[in-house]
Amino acid sequence: MAKVPRGKGQSPRFWNEITPESSELHLSPTAWRHEETVNRQIQVYAQLHLLQQIVDSMPACVSYVDKNLCYQYVNATYQEWFGIKSEDLYGRSVETIIGTAAYEKAKPNIDRVLAGEKVIYEATLHYALAGKRHVQGTLVPDYDIEGAVKGYFALVQDLSARKEAELALQRKVEQDHTLWQITQRVRQTLDLQEILATATEEVQRYLHVDRTLIFQFISGDGGEVIQVTAQADCPMAVDTHQWQEQGLRSTCYQYYSQGTVSTVADLACQDADLCLSPWMRAIAAKSAIIAPVLQAQDEGENRLWGFLIAQTCNDYRQWSTGEVELLEQVADQLAIAVQQANLLASLQCQAERLAETNHALERANQRLNELSRQDALTKIANRRHFDAVLRQEWKRMSRSQLPLSLIMFDVDHFKQFNDHHGHPAGDICLTTVAQTSQQVVNRPTDLVARYGGEEFAVVLPHTDLAGALTIAETLRHSICALNIVNFETATETVYVTVSVGVACQIPAVGTSPQRLIDSADQALYQAKQTGRNRVVCGE
Ligand code: GH3
Ligand code: MG
Ligand code: MG
Repeated sequence: MAKVPRGKGQSPRFWNEITPESSELHLSPTAWRHEETVNRQIQVYAQLHLLQQIVDSMPACVSYVDKNLCYQYVNATYQEWFGIKSEDLYGRSVETIIGTAAYEKAKPNIDRVLAGEKVIYEATLHYALAGKRHVQGTLVPDYDIEGAVKGYFALVQDLSARKEAELALQRKVEQDHTLWQITQRVRQTLDLQEILATATEEVQRYLHVDRTLIFQFISGDGGEVIQVTAQADCPMAVDTHQWQEQGLRSTCYQYYSQGTVSTVADLACQDADLCLSPWMRAIAAKSAIIAPVLQAQDEGENRLWGFLIAQTCNDYRQWSTGEVELLEQVADQLAIAVQQANLLASLQCQAERLAETNHALERANQRLNELSRQDALTKIANRRHFDAVLRQEWKRMSRSQLPLSLIMFDVDHFKQFNDHHGHPAGDICLTTVAQTSQQVVNRPTDLVARYGGEEFAVVLPHTDLAGALTIAETLRHSICALNIVNFETATETVYVTVSVGVACQIPAVGTSPQRLIDSADQALYQAKQTGRNRVVCGE
């Protein structure tokens, strides 16, 4: 007999203490024992009642199923979900209550719990009244005194709200990833075609649509699809890529110039017809979501460049806010990409024009350079160029201590040629002499120049005196062989000839070529003095 102490004056709380007042009432031991038994029973019932209240008020399905798979107990939530009263459930088999299909699914778990294993599972199930729920079930085996499983307890908790939140979070992560991919592509590449392809592929992947396309306005009355990603069962024939309709762009403006995204669940029975609806019906689209791609203009207005469109062609679809949001954000990224591409194109155009101008300038400079080194009449090197080359070769030969030869020659009696034939003929004669001389020298570093008037010079780097004399003689002979008549006297015909002076030196470091010039000049003078039409070697 338990003697649990309690406060005086408190009424007996029979579910947790057994302290009959009988002892105080001086009842007989029989009456006392009877009262104790009654009290125990009341206590047990009360505890059971409380337990039932607790289990009924739980927001989860609690049930007990015996080893024959018949319900022995279900709580209130269970009855609510299935829409069946508890009295109709007791003794009935699980299969008849949850249906054969659900039972087949549950069977492996039931087998496991009946084999003595505690089973925890997650599933999305359809309940008669509660509808579709994502649940977590816990099946706990119940044993008899011999340790054999005689049934199991089942606790089914509704995780739908949590699951939905998880899914929403996952969608958000996917959406952010999709957008990130496109944004990265826009930042990393200037290739518009590549960006457009990434955009349609990523949208297609994220929205799980049948077709994603980019439509660009070509004129006010029409445009064409410039990028498309489509499932094999939702193809798009090339001849449907273009769409012409009078004033198409202006019709579309009413809807889209504010950047608003349109969603159409059923293109066939849309009340407010969108500007592109006829075309979308023509390409067998059922539902669509259309985001405008706008270009900011200088005046602060937006120009409708085109659309980013996602379509279904197998099922009708209600579009969610998240999907609208994504398409809108992708369209904004496309607008940036288009603007970048336009800027790049105009920069490239400018760069091409600049390159052309530079090239022309280069050619002009080159020509100018040539002209500045060329004698206008004879087209061979002029005096300025001769001076520069002689200085340069003098230095070069001084460094390598090699001989530099200089030939100077002058047309004989040229005054008389002019007098007899006139100045223009004199010009022609000088040109012929120059070109003939030019042909005599053959090394790339040799230079024939007009020194002044009817006097010429030949610079011969890395050429000794003997070599220079040979060239001088060849030169004199070549001109003589032209047989150009200079003048005639009563007794003879005088032809155009040249007198030639030759000099050669190994240049001393730090000196000027003046001595070489003087030496050649003196030799030329001597050639004149000694009868002309000859070669004289300088000291
Ligand atoms: P020499 O044999 O002593 O050299 O006699 P020369 O008559 O050739 O020499 P001179 O210096 O007396 O005369 C040179 C002439 O060459 C005078 C000048 O008018 C002429 N001459 C110089 N440059 C040109 C030119 O570019 N064209 C023409 N046609 N004649 C020129
Ligand atoms: Mg002369
Ligand atoms: Mg002269």
